[in-house]
Amino acid sequence: MKTNESTIGIGIGIVGAGIGGLVAAIALRRAGHDVIVFEQAKQFARVGADINLTPNAVRALDGLGVGEAARVTAARPSHRISRTYDTGEETSRLEMADSAEERYGAPQLTIHRADLLAALADMFPAERVALGKRAETIVADEKGVSLSFTDGTSARVGALLGADGIHSCVRTAMFGAESPRFTGIVAYRAVVPAERVAGVPNLGAFTKWWGPNPQSQIVTFPLNRGKDVFIFATTPQDTWHLESWTAPGSVDELREQYVAYHPEARALLDACDTVLKTALYERDPMLAWAQGRMALLGDAAHPMLPFMAQGAGMAIEDAVVLARHLEGAAMTDVADALQGYEKARIERASQVQLGSRGNNWLREGGNADWVYGYDAWAVPLGAPVAATA
Ligand SMILES: Cc1cc2nc3c(=O)[nH]c(=O)nc-3n(C[C@H](O)[C@H](O)[C@H](O)COP(=O)(O)OP(=O)(O)OC[C@H]3O[C@@H](n4cnc5c(N)ncnc54)[C@H](O)[C@@H]3O)c2cc1C
Repeated sequence: MKTNESTIGIGIGIVGAGIGGLVAAIALRRAGHDVIVFEQAKQFARVGADINLTPNAVRALDGLGVGEAARVTAARPSHRISRTYDTGEETSRLEMADSAEERYGAPQLTIHRADLLAALADMFPAERVALGKRAETIVADEKGVSLSFTDGTSARVGALLGADGIHSCVRTAMFGAESPRFTGIVAYRAVVPAERVAGVPNLGAFTKWWGPNPQSQIVTFPLNRGKDVFIFATTPQDTWHLESWTAPGSVDELREQYVAYHPEARALLDACDTVLKTALYERDPMLAWAQGRMALLGDAAHPMLPFMAQGAGMAIEDAVVLARHLEGAAMTDVADALQGYEKARIERASQVQLGSRGNNWLREGGNADWVYGYDAWAVPLGAPVAATA
């Protein structure tokens, strides 16, 4: 779609059509707002692999009406199991699937990121997603926000949400430039046909092999309704800084990194033909996500290490809670509504961000309810900061 200041109204603009941006777009439109999404990619491509959606995220998607479409290709892990990397000792086991549905109102689902994006994109009018629009300059004033894009076009909106990921330009416009930090950890991602590793136990479960240090782990779970097994392995390595969802890694290197792991974990690595490799970056929790008519959500606000598998879940929760705050809000009230959203969400997301960095959650069991039991459609709305000061 063509964008210029005369064609865009004074509705809500969202920078980024990732999971957070699309969930926010659907929920805000449902709440009665005129929404336009600006996405830098020229088309929705099949990039990425697994997304792990724990019950809190699935319940939020169900409330949006997208859960059924997501279930078409998703797998439904039977358990969440912790094992020690060398002895194979099982240190915790949580029942998921039916038990999670009974306890939390939704199961855990594992799904290809592109399948989830496609299900979300189907629920939002394509003509309100402006593809090929890389936001470059963002200037806010009392009545709205002006954006200019790298293709030379511009737009003006009444309020702007930054759902533009870890390198968010909206975040920079709001709070100044600050680069994400390399964690010294790399991640390998691979997909193996389940029939090739049929002898390995617990293929239907989400299994986390806890390594000799907090940075080392192998996580495996079913993908594509159980036809495939997804492998996500991390290890300390300070020589690889490339952050990419598509860069290939070496299968031999992958196997070398985990020689000390239990044979059942190594059997999965032995079955890989190819692997992708990325460096992991993060940021510290922020003190604020909202400022005037702008706010951040998802990775733009709280990029986190993948150790609690909550990156997508937190983005989805943010988007739902944000839309609930903006429901019925006039543009003149939007700044207060965004303050309320920040107040309602920042503590939880920061806690998960720090918990992910610590990487100890559910290692020896413990209570998953505070994460899985959160209902983004029912949590109390936060009062605007100004109103409570
Ligand atoms: C290509 C890609 C592949 C991924 N694959 C995986 C995966 O396999 N497994 C996994 O666990 N997580 C993956 N993630 C990360 C995961 O999706 C997010 O951590 C999580 O879902 C939070 O989503 P988000 O919407 O906040 O941010 P993101 O998913 O990062 O989405 C941000 C969106 O904003 C767009 N954007 C960024 N800058 C601009 C700009 N200046 N102007 C316009 N648009 C902009 C990006 O193109 C992207 O579509 C991937 C992310 C991306 C971008």
